[in-house]
Amino acid sequence: MEEKRTERLSDLSTMKEILGRHGFTFSKALGQNFLINPSVCPRMAEMCGADETSGVLEVGPGIGVLTRELAARAQKVVAIELDTRLLPVLAETLADYPNASVVHGDVMKLDLAELIRREFAGMQVAVCANLPYYITSPVIMKILEEKLPITALTVMVQKEAADRICAKPGTRACGAVSAAVQYYAEPEVLFQVSRGSFMPAPNVDSTVIRLNVRPQPPVQLKSEEHFFRLVKAAFGQRRKTAQNAVSSGMGLPKAQVAAAMERAGIGANARAEQMTLEMLAAFSNELLSLTNS
Ligand code: SAM
Repeated sequence: MEEKRTERLSDLSTMKEILGRHGFTFSKALGQNFLINPSVCPRMAEMCGADETSGVLEVGPGIGVLTRELAARAQKVVAIELDTRLLPVLAETLADYPNASVVHGDVMKLDLAELIRREFAGMQVAVCANLPYYITSPVIMKILEEKLPITALTVMVQKEAADRICAKPGTRACGAVSAAVQYYAEPEVLFQVSRGSFMPAPNVDSTVIRLNVRPQPPVQLKSEEHFFRLVKAAFGQRRKTAQNAVSSGMGLPKAQVAAAMERAGIGANARAEQMTLEMLAAFSNELLSLTNS
């Protein structure tokens, strides 16, 4: 009986043989750093919540090293891959996994809500991916903003991106992405992955994080759209006080911004990174009331 290739795909010589046979060369522009550390994918697959009753959506399967680990655990796996050159590779590497399929397309352009409805009817769905680094935050934000019916996103990202995403609002490391992500999800750092775990090796280490999607937002907003504009403006010019950054970023009179901050109980000289999610929400709600009145 032919041995299933699950363990061997991350093996460097196996990967080189498959890619060589398909005449594949890595595209830096598509963020193609494939995992060659055999312990990473099983851990990610275990920790993303995949089980025999659930579906998993993967972004960027590469040659399918994580896809196979997910398919061994989940009821169904659908992997979105943009690079057409990988489709024949995946047809081969996923041949033993009838519960795994590949959708060819750009994750940023696909209608993910429709895809989930079509592919995962009646299943709990999780996202699990070793994300292409050039679009880490846009992919995470697209998935969260679209309020897809998913339980969590378990993603590998560059260590610096993980630090930013997981930084608590109200701490120095916090940025617009941390605040935006944490409105939708509770981030958790799972484990670190060294740069030597990839082929080709990138210049930075990586971190696997899990974003546990909140059933309800942690703060009440009058307008999400206004909140996200304010967050972007407040963190956009970090050397300025939040008052100045929001005033120039949103094109509003300083006095109006100052009044909103005062009504929200925030000190006039506060900077965005000193504000908790509750403070940012109160700031947005008060500013919206003032600008609408
Ligand atoms: N999952 C594989 C692994 O861990 O070895 C590959 C991960 S590699 C970091 C990122 C993958 O995302 C590549 O296969 C790349 O072709 C794919 N990709 C890049 N941009 C994409 C996009 N916009 N939509 C879907 N897939 C994309």
